[in-house]
Formats: sequence, structure tokens, C-alpha cells
Amino acid sequence: MRPLSQLPLEAARSVRVVLTDIDDTVTSEGMLTAEAYAALERLHRAGFIVIPVTGRPAGWCDHIARMWPVDAVVGENGAFFFRYDRKQRKMRQRFWASPEEFKRNRARLEAIEKEVLATVPGCALASDQAYRVADLAIDFCEDVPALPEAEVDRIVAIFERAGAQAKVSSIHVNGWFGDYNKLSMAKVLLAEVFGLDWEQARNAVVYAGDSPNDEPMFEAFPLSVGVANIQAFAHRLAHKPAYITAGHSGTGFAELADLLLRARRE
Ligand SMILES: [Mg+2]
Repeated sequence: MRPLSQLPLEAARSVRVVLTDIDDTVTSEGMLTAEAYAALERLHRAGFIVIPVTGRPAGWCDHIARMWPVDAVVGENGAFFFRYDRKQRKMRQRFWASPEEFKRNRARLEAIEKEVLATVPGCALASDQAYRVADLAIDFCEDVPALPEAEVDRIVAIFERAGAQAKVSSIHVNGWFGDYNKLSMAKVLLAEVFGLDWEQARNAVVYAGDSPNDEPMFEAFPLSVGVANIQAFAHRLAHKPAYITAGHSGTGFAELADLLLRARRE
């Protein structure tokens, strides 16, 4: 991971699409600062396609797509994207699986939930679980005291033994049934809504993140950026981002926005 300050302006100039994780990438210690929100807004106003790609639930994503200065949002680690069409005043929703499939998977996830809560002391059902359509989120760091890494691994192992996928963010273990992740749904969104095939997308996107659940994105996009706090997870990452910001979380994200905007001006 090279310092973001070493990213050549010429490379920054090729960016048209900003894909970004939310928790601990745009937010800082659980809060959306004015600095980070303004960075999103400045990018959006300047004409960048801005798309948060998050593990957060459908309920939150409805709000984000509707009210934030963004072009769309990918939620629940790729289970769907939402895009609010401001002209037509319509929320466009695209899900990876059918409602029936999500419902069938729900029963299997409930069995995993029982096992995790009975087996791993100190974790909890994520407080935003009620607003999810596709995944099960186990809190190990948001509203509970942080669990040791070995306990987080035990939660992941329970999901995987049941045949589910599991990804670790900075606050939750998210698990689901289905062959998707942040990357696969981002690809669908970029192709279907923005008309970018994979080759075009690879060259137009910068991805910003902070955790292991961002790894498929770090691997896929040559221009990827970790905010400084990714250092804490670096040992868990086989695929690290190409660049790292000096600032943590939202301050690091603002640093990236500044660089992209400067590259456009100069
Ligand atoms: Mg994160």
C-alpha cells in the first residue's frame, strides 16, 4: 500500500466513478461527519458517479439512495442496489435473488443465529437486523465491547459450516446464502444503469474501503484506496488496496475526494 499522496494526478484524472464502503471509511467512530458528507457532496456535484457499497441493511439504503448526494447504493454486501430516480420520483430496486429465495434462506439464517448466540459469548444480533432483507448481521464491535479476533473467527466458521458466505466488516460479521458479494452487484449496477462494461468499469472506478469485506473490491479494481485504519486489518487481507490515506476513516475519504477534485481542476 503506497501513500495516496504518491498517486499521480494523471491516474486520478481517469476516475469517473467513486465506489466507497461506508462504515469506518466514510463514517468515523460511528458518525457521519460534516467533512465526510461534504466530500461525498463535492464529488457528486462535480459530476462523479458516487455509489456507497455497504453491508448495511435495505432499510438504511432506502434512506441513503433517497437523501444522500449519491447516484445509487449497493447494500447488504451485494444483495441489492437501490437507485432513486429524482425525475420520475421512483425508487428503483434490483435484488440478486427473488423474494421467495430470500424467505427460504431466512429460515436457514435463523438457525445460524441461534447457534452463534448460544456458542459465542459477548456477540449480539446487530441492532439494524430488523431492516435487512437478505443477510444476518452479528455485532462484535458496534454496540457490544469489541470481541477478540479468535471469537470473530468462530462466528465466521459457524456461518461457513452451514454453507453460508461470511464477511467481516469493522463492526459486524455478515453472512448470507447466495453467490454474490459487493463486487458482483457493483458490476451489475455499473453495467445495467451506467452502461459500463467490465473493462470500462475497471478503468473508471476508484474504490475506497477499510476492512476484509472490501477485499473483493481491492482485488478487482486497480485503483483502490484504504483509509489509514485499514492497517489494523492488513494481516487479514490477501488483497490489499493499492494506496492508503494518511487520515483515518472520514478524514481519509475527504483526502481522496480532495485529490480527485484537484486532478480534475489542474
Ligand atoms: Mg467498513
